[in-house]
Amino acid sequence: MDVEDLYALIPEFICSEGCYECCKNFGVPSRTKVEDARIKKFLKDNSMQPGEASGQTCPYLDETLPEGGCSIYPVRPLICRLYGTSPSYLCRMGVRPVRLLEEDEEEEIFYLYRKNFF
Ligand code: SF4
Repeated sequence: MDVEDLYALIPEFICSEGCYECCKNFGVPSRTKVEDARIKKFLKDNSMQPGEASGQTCPYLDETLPEGGCSIYPVRPLICRLYGTSPSYLCRMGVRPVRLLEEDEEEEIFYLYRKNFF
């Protein structure tokens, strides 16, 4: 299983335009070695440096980007993708995914995540 196969199990979630509330409240997102390597490669390929972590704001958040705030969006880790899509990680701003995951689906995703990518 590739990590993209795992990400594909997560329903689509479209944030409110200009909202980076979650990226400002949970600090540096947790990630596995596989995801960390993807992020490092993405930064290198794009000649980018992560910003400084500031309080609870993610260092990858860049509010100056025209297309959105996450500067590593294509390789953002699982926790960022899962946020808002399951009963355990509901968006505080009330935005909901195309389809909310069932609790057992979320458990399965975490099971596969730990099994394959830790
Ligand atoms: S990695 Fe991107 S999506 Fe995840 S918290 Fe940071 S800015 Fe937000």
